[in-house]
Amino acid sequence: MGILFLLVIIILIFLLRKKRQVYSIPAGRAVYGDLQSEGKTLVSRRYGLSGKPDRVIRKGEELIPYEFKSTEADSPRTGHLLQMGVYFLILEDNYAGAVIKKGVLKYRTRAFEVRNTPELRERVLRTAQLMRSMRGVPRRNHDNPGKCFKCSFKEVCSQRLIK
Ligand code: SF4
Repeated sequence: MGILFLLVIIILIFLLRKKRQVYSIPAGRAVYGDLQSEGKTLVSRRYGLSGKPDRVIRKGEELIPYEFKSTEADSPRTGHLLQMGVYFLILEDNYAGAVIKKGVLKYRTRAFEVRNTPELRERVLRTAQLMRSMRGVPRRNHDNPGKCFKCSFKEVCSQRLIK
């Protein structure tokens, strides 16, 4: 019985590691998850932004947001980079003292590390500011409230389709 139990534990650990490798999930302890839409929306009151990263991994003092996209891409898409930038700001606001250096953006077959740079931060804040004022922002190109519901900029977007 004892050996069987040990075997089951070893197999479970092996499967979890395999899953982590296949999906490029950073090693560490998950402190937030929304892969199955189970997470509550994280909100930054300070920046007026919100989001639901697929995972947030804690590794010591460091927090690493992780986002999975079922599409394919040769390089990170602009909207996804901004989304990751929003996650950095939200985590900064929600986890005082945490170190937030990078995130992982995983597409179907490729994964990219996104650095939390001052440039990305500036770009996200500028985009949020533009969305509030609608200056220079392209008009909404869809009629899908679900898209707005999931959007990290919904709190500040003047064109959102949801309350
Ligand atoms: S809230 Fe909706 S309209 Fe505004 S940027 Fe997001 S998806 Fe587009």
